[in-house]
Amino acid sequence: MSEILRLEKVSKAFGGIKAVNDVSFGLKEGQIVALIGPNGAGKTTLVNLITGVLPLTEGKVFFAGEEVTRQKAFQAARRGLARTFQIVQPFPEMSVMENVAAGALFGGELGSRREAEAEARRELAFVGLDRLADSPASSLTLPGRKRLELAKSLAMKPKVLLLDEVNAGLNTAEIDGALTLIRKIAERGVTILLIEHLMKVVLSISERILVLHHGELIAEGAPRAVLEDERVVEAYLGAKFAARMRKEGLHV
Ligand code: ATP
Repeated sequence: MSEILRLEKVSKAFGGIKAVNDVSFGLKEGQIVALIGPNGAGKTTLVNLITGVLPLTEGKVFFAGEEVTRQKAFQAARRGLARTFQIVQPFPEMSVMENVAAGALFGGELGSRREAEAEARRELAFVGLDRLADSPASSLTLPGRKRLELAKSLAMKPKVLLLDEVNAGLNTAEIDGALTLIRKIAERGVTILLIEHLMKVVLSISERILVLHHGELIAEGAPRAVLEDERVVEAYLGAKFAARMRKEGLHV
């Protein structure tokens, strides 16, 4: 498996705050990797750096072997680096289909509006929203808006997809549905970096875990090893969780 994405010593400062500090890691093609860490650890900032939404203060980003450190967001999308947003904000007055078509056009491969709309309908069927394609986006419930966000990023034909808390606010059944969908996306050959707070989700889906704390990557590796790492327990999971994990045999 070759590496599709690599970060080398990436940092981002906001004034005096180092939101991301000297972070290096790689993603292998086809992997599902979870990025975890406490609130304010720098996870969303890292996604913004990878996708050209924010400029890096230091470091380098490589995508498919090419240096893309200074790319803009539209260039990242065109290369095949797509992301979802933590706070889902579709254009409310546009239909569900039009929102996805806008994503397809931003991704840049499709020339005409008609092609973009056809692509949008295909992705809406994939995420199970085809029946609502012509409804206004404002009529969607939260799980629907999350699926719309996924369809929109898929319409960009990503090679790497960065998912920022796609399960937040969903109930257990909705999360199970979202996990099935994420696995189906990975089966299409898309490499996935998943920002996630729910440990159950992290354990059930990821092959590797990266842990950020105060902007630094404090651990990375196989789920079991990472969740038993003392620094991770101390910084993020808490002693109570670690004890429960051992007691309930919540190993992976
Ligand atoms: P959460 O889990 O709460 O979403 P996070 O791990 O995604 O948190 P970030 O949102 O990346 O964390 O924030 C990392 C740090 O950078 C925080 O201290 C935050 O206040 C700060 N920060 C993020 N964006 C900006 C900005 N645009 N200007 C100034 N500081 C920022």
